[in-house]
Amino acid sequence: MNPSLPQNDSNPEQRLESLEKERKLYKWDYYPNQDGIAMIQKLPIPEELPKEPEWFLDVITAILTILSNRAIEDFAAGGLGFNLLLYGVITRIVILIDLISRPLEKNSQNRLFWWLIENLTRLIGRILKRRQVAENQRETNTRIDLTPPVTPRNAVDELESYNNLFEIIHLPCISYHFQEDRVFAAQRVAGPNPLVLERVRQELPDKFPLTNEDYRSVMGPEDSLEKAIAEKRLYIADYEIFDTITAGNFPPNYRKYIYAPIALFAVASGTDNTGCLVPVAIQCGQRPSIAYPIFTRPPAGTPRDQQWYWLMAKTIVQIADGNYHELISHLGRTHLWMEPFAIATQRQLAANHPLGILLRPHFEGTLLINSAARLSLISNEGTVDRILAGSIEESVGLAAEGVRGYPFVFNDSMLPTFLALRGVDDAESFPDYPYRDDGLLIWHSIHQWVDDYLSLYYHSDQDVQEDAELQGWIKALVAVDGGRMIGVGQETPSGGVDIHSKAYLVDAVTLIIFTSSAQHAAVNFPQASDMSYAPNMPLAGYTDAPNSPQATKQDYFDLLPPIPQAELQMNTGYALGSVYYTQLGDYGEGYFQDPLVEQPLKAFQNRLLEIETTINDRNEVRRTFYNFLSPSRIPQSINI
Ligand code: MN
Repeated sequence: MNPSLPQNDSNPEQRLESLEKERKLYKWDYYPNQDGIAMIQKLPIPEELPKEPEWFLDVITAILTILSNRAIEDFAAGGLGFNLLLYGVITRIVILIDLISRPLEKNSQNRLFWWLIENLTRLIGRILKRRQVAENQRETNTRIDLTPPVTPRNAVDELESYNNLFEIIHLPCISYHFQEDRVFAAQRVAGPNPLVLERVRQELPDKFPLTNEDYRSVMGPEDSLEKAIAEKRLYIADYEIFDTITAGNFPPNYRKYIYAPIALFAVASGTDNTGCLVPVAIQCGQRPSIAYPIFTRPPAGTPRDQQWYWLMAKTIVQIADGNYHELISHLGRTHLWMEPFAIATQRQLAANHPLGILLRPHFEGTLLINSAARLSLISNEGTVDRILAGSIEESVGLAAEGVRGYPFVFNDSMLPTFLALRGVDDAESFPDYPYRDDGLLIWHSIHQWVDDYLSLYYHSDQDVQEDAELQGWIKALVAVDGGRMIGVGQETPSGGVDIHSKAYLVDAVTLIIFTSSAQHAAVNFPQASDMSYAPNMPLAGYTDAPNSPQATKQDYFDLLPPIPQAELQMNTGYALGSVYYTQLGDYGEGYFQDPLVEQPLKAFQNRLLEIETTINDRNEVRRTFYNFLSPSRIPQSINI
């Protein structure tokens, strides 16, 4: 059957019936409501609770529960490999069961069989759930009894001890350079989280009162704050969102710290202008005080043993950036953000709806990996609780902020808009921004593909408006008992939400595909190369921020994660950042049954090949190497 738009003149009842039949083939529908543990805990629970979960869901729950319990034990013990492999195999088996169940289900003679399966799995699901509740209760009780934790001094005082963790996994490149100012600044534009920096447009915020004198001490007597602002050379990274976050205290005996630093960067002027950012000053908290003085970059020639405070201040920015990365940019803004789209697509678009056909490959594995993460990584005493800075409730809350639209809602997150809103879109005044430059190549390429593809089926805005399934899709995304998304779709005169222009549809679908593929790749894979080495980007601090330039080497090492924490960060980062499954643009031979798709798809694939070459060429000459957005390293969907 060729994909086609729903026929408006067909009998609506018949159409509904056939739609219902189509939908029954997709058991994923029931997935998100499985166990009542809402990922986004702060959102209101709809009055009408979801229906009793279906059998298929319980099978997955059962498998995942057993598996993730084992996986977390293995992770905690520092092992990896076998369970990941097992996890991969089980994932495929689950998909296989789903595929097999489709034809079987059509046959009514199998009803008895399914009735048995259904009740059996429901029973297993209930037992497992009860066990989980009991365990949670026990964990909570244990944690209430804890006496306030003590911060032990770090047992190590040499990086060697961190390097020695890398026995099997090779020591990442970043471990040789991470203390350099140049590398610290480069991570704002080409690191795991190149998404925070903003241009200073008017003047510095009152809460960051850097004087011109201090600025000149770093950038030279010819430069000034006013000049740098006027020439679009001044940039700030403000981690204000952590100001109200309570630090966690798990595992016991480690008191962890989180900070809300502000860091200022400038592009040098005149002949010193390499185009690269120079770190100018760091304030480790939101308000200047005795605890949080502004530190400026030490002058050249400062002896190494008098620079520990500066290294600590940079590390504190890295800690904030690491938490922002994992919770907001990675978990919130890619993994969880795409969930409502995956669900609305399965529920609202028939199997032969062209938009559904386009989008489904970009959701492959997403719900499954998110559920596995929810059970093992982002749970009480899971990895996030253990190695990230905030308490587990705070961490989940931060991810929820991302999902709800921090820093920007969906409609303001189209890559060109996102860059313009942050003022980092001008390549002339701000030339060294590899994420932006490579990201835009991919963005425009996907945009063209989406436009070409949708133009086969939608010839006008009217076609878009009259597509009832599409309108149902957007309504499901914003509904209180649906996706509860904010800032998505187009406003109607009556204050509702719909999609009434084809141009908007193309933009929105581009953002969905870009997020599932490129954006996730940009934030996921640096977990192995840049974040597995804890001293570069610790996920929590273990002492107060420095308050004077007298900080010592021991102070610096006390700030870093103790070795067992660093080891867990290494294992987790390496595992999550090393799995490449599928590749952008590769939908599989014969996936699109409509012959008209062949030509625009081929064009898209050719553009991606060209981009691969362009990025390789750029890396030969540009100041900052960056290959996370090379098309060959971008999977189609979020599946790890
Ligand atoms: Mn990921």
